[in-house]
Amino acid sequence: MAKDNLTAVLYGIEDMRLEQRPIPEIADDEVLLAMDCVGICGSDVHYLQHGRIGDFVLTKPMVIGHESAGVVTKLGKKVTNLKVGDRVAIEPGVPCRYCDHCKGGQYNLCPGMVFCATPPYDGNLTRYYKHAADFCFKLPDHVSMEEGALLEPLSVGVHACKRAGVTLGSKVLILGAGPIGLVTLLAAQSMGASEILITDLLQQRLDVAKELGATHTLLLNRDQTAEETAKLVRKTMSGEPDKSIDCCGAESSARLAIFATRSGGVVVVVGMGAAEVKLPLINALAREVDVRGVFRYCNDYASALALVASGKVNVKRLVTHHFDIKETDKAFETSRKGLGGAIKVMIHVQPRNTNN
Ligand code: NAD
Ligand code: ZN
Repeated sequence: MAKDNLTAVLYGIEDMRLEQRPIPEIADDEVLLAMDCVGICGSDVHYLQHGRIGDFVLTKPMVIGHESAGVVTKLGKKVTNLKVGDRVAIEPGVPCRYCDHCKGGQYNLCPGMVFCATPPYDGNLTRYYKHAADFCFKLPDHVSMEEGALLEPLSVGVHACKRAGVTLGSKVLILGAGPIGLVTLLAAQSMGASEILITDLLQQRLDVAKELGATHTLLLNRDQTAEETAKLVRKTMSGEPDKSIDCCGAESSARLAIFATRSGGVVVVVGMGAAEVKLPLINALAREVDVRGVFRYCNDYASALALVASGKVNVKRLVTHHFDIKETDKAFETSRKGLGGAIKVMIHVQPRNTNN
């Protein structure tokens, strides 16, 4: 294993640098991890391009990366749930554990959340990284490190489906077939949805959704209104969807989600677009369509791991590209431009497949 600590640090807009950082010292409840692989997420690309997401603003250099897995190399004195050599998926957000939200079981809403690569906190595209031991999930031998890293987006999909109340026989409309739409599709299938229609503006993304088992796909026509498209959704499915999950963040998409959803159904908004959007609120209230937000995940990593470990969900198809940490610039270029049909771009901190 490398002795250096090569690290990808975002200094500002379009200014990513690879540099050596000291190997971190761990606290009693932490572990030191030799990072294995880190997936690139849309938010990482957004920080590179804009230096901010909403109120989270990059004001000092920040290590990038948060969809990751690594190997335990050192244990804090109080750590009992892990051993040196364990391969783990890293849940990247560590809450305070003391506030009302944490105690009430919604730790994703903790105001004291320390989340990898959300300013001002460092991420983990680095060779050595320390993390709270109770937010590391040991991977069974047959689950790969890449699958471990993919538990991060998969947890978003699991959380979105739980918030929507997807269950046996649900008819689900998913808007957007990017990585988040695709993991939401996988989660909805495993939670018993009988029909899933997924939309996108790109046929190539819909083809992947079809391959992953979407029962219907719909290539959107930008000239059609949300009401017209809603009719098309109903015609394509065997009726109105009872759950709609927006995974792209466009205003037109949230509008379509409301118009298309069956009366008494649920719209879940995962996609983050403009801070304010125009929605048909009266249509939603008059038909008791509940609109719910999703912020990351909460107690979903274990479910996501169980889905992958049991073979119920196969996330491997999402990974389209592999790069070494030294090629971080190229990896980000591939992800942001969607080069070569890129869906999930994985950066390897250790030589690929070293830890399987
Ligand atoms: P992505 O940009 O890779 O994928 C979005 C997909 O939506 C693309 O395939 C795009 O072609 C498609 N699209 C664009 N406009 C559309 C429209 N009007 N109708 C249907 N499809 C459309 O992004 P991603 O990584 O898959 O993430 C999706 C969204 O989820 C982003 O907005 C991201 O910020 C958000 N997100 C939210 C959370 C959360 O906690 N709420 C977590 C992760 C990601
Ligand atoms: Zn808290």
